[in-house]
Amino acid sequence: MEVEPLVHFDDTAVAFSYKTDSNLRKANFIFTVVNHPAISSLATGCVRLGLALRLPIKGIIRSTVFFHFCGGETIEKSEDTIRRLAQYKVGTILDYSVEGAETEEGFDRTAAEILKTFEKAKNNPAVPFCVFKTTGMAEFALLEKIQSGAECTEAEKAAFERVRNRVDKICKKACDYGVPVLIDAEDSWIQNTIDNLANEMMAKYNQKKAIVFNTYQMYRADMLANLKEAFHLAAMGNYFLGVKMVRGAYMEKERERASKMNYADPIHPSKEATDECFNKGLAFCLDNKQRIVLMCGSHNEYSNQYLALLMQKHGMKQNDSRVWFAQLLGMSDNISFNLAKEGYNVVKYVPYGPVESVMPYLLRRAAENTSVAGQSSRELLLIRKELKRRNESAKVTSNS
Ligand SMILES: Cc1cc2nc3c(=O)[nH]c(=O)nc-3n(C[C@H](O)[C@H](O)[C@H](O)COP(=O)(O)OP(=O)(O)OC[C@H]3O[C@@H](n4cnc5c(N)ncnc54)[C@H](O)[C@@H]3O)c2cc1C
Repeated sequence: MEVEPLVHFDDTAVAFSYKTDSNLRKANFIFTVVNHPAISSLATGCVRLGLALRLPIKGIIRSTVFFHFCGGETIEKSEDTIRRLAQYKVGTILDYSVEGAETEEGFDRTAAEILKTFEKAKNNPAVPFCVFKTTGMAEFALLEKIQSGAECTEAEKAAFERVRNRVDKICKKACDYGVPVLIDAEDSWIQNTIDNLANEMMAKYNQKKAIVFNTYQMYRADMLANLKEAFHLAAMGNYFLGVKMVRGAYMEKERERASKMNYADPIHPSKEATDECFNKGLAFCLDNKQRIVLMCGSHNEYSNQYLALLMQKHGMKQNDSRVWFAQLLGMSDNISFNLAKEGYNVVKYVPYGPVESVMPYLLRRAAENTSVAGQSSRELLLIRKELKRRNESAKVTSNS
């Protein structure tokens, strides 16, 4: 369907208003590097090796990619980013991005850190949501075993009870503080376990408003039906459904596993099919807005335009609290800042954590932005357009 744009995403002056000239030049350097597959893989290889050999490269990483994609190493050090975004009416979701906790102590530490994000968010419109990944607080193999339906040992049952308690403590804090919490979606072979926990928490804490949000990955062929089923559960239990809708980040991994283990590929057969399902999902949420609060987590211009159009068709104001637009820090600023300028509710995931622990997240962003065919990515084109615009306007000012 053709969509007449309600918001113009090509206004780079608005998109990069929060970036100084020097920050923008750094962004140009980063995206130029990641845009070349060969240079990008050489650079990421060097970074991995440098960190493994404990070479003093943290400072370089911190002032370049880390600064571009992350808030800081701690919540306190992310304060400047929160303030800069809030100045342009873009909210922050503090995303504790340390991956790979493997012990009970590690899981407890992650849960404690996530609880700290609520202290920052409490009564703070600049931080309107919190977020967590279940695998930060649970052993992956345990989530997988529970999903498989295999009989668990007493120790495993006790371990899962501790996972449920960690999740419950966070969702209770969300409810007590009135700060909604997003539960990220992960691999399909643990996702049913996560969905069951999320549905349990929604039934408990979403009675008066949407406090707990589950994530729906629309690249999965079964997801539109799952979303409708979650809505049905919410209607039966008379609670609100918090929906974070994304396309899904683990397509290659999903397909590889399905092929290796000889089961049907759970992902839609094409990008077009994923797109269609995503947009149908958006329409379903707005058709049921009396019970659903929606966060659209996407860098896709069409989907963001389409959602703005759906809101208009439903007679909703731009800042209707039932619809949120979300992007990642350092990506698709043209969407975030132009939507925010027009009065829509916009948030950015702002990852934080020690530089070396955030590296897996940064390497994924690098891979995501590496061009396959060698053409410039959309991010790079926009950054260069804005640098050119600033240079020209500086020339005009100095000539006048
Ligand atoms: C705020 C935010 C939160 C997020 N949270 C999560 C999360 O909790 N869990 C998670 O998994 N991801 C999450 N993501 C990532 C997201 O799922 C996407 O990977 C990413 O945003 C790219 O999709 P897009 O809608 O932005 O844009 P697009 O660039 O239009 O779409 C790319 C996506 O389309 C799909 N796709 C691409 N090629 C094909 C194909 N051949 N066949 C079928 N499908 C295809 C894939 O999902 C791919 O990632 C989040 C993203 C954002 C912005």
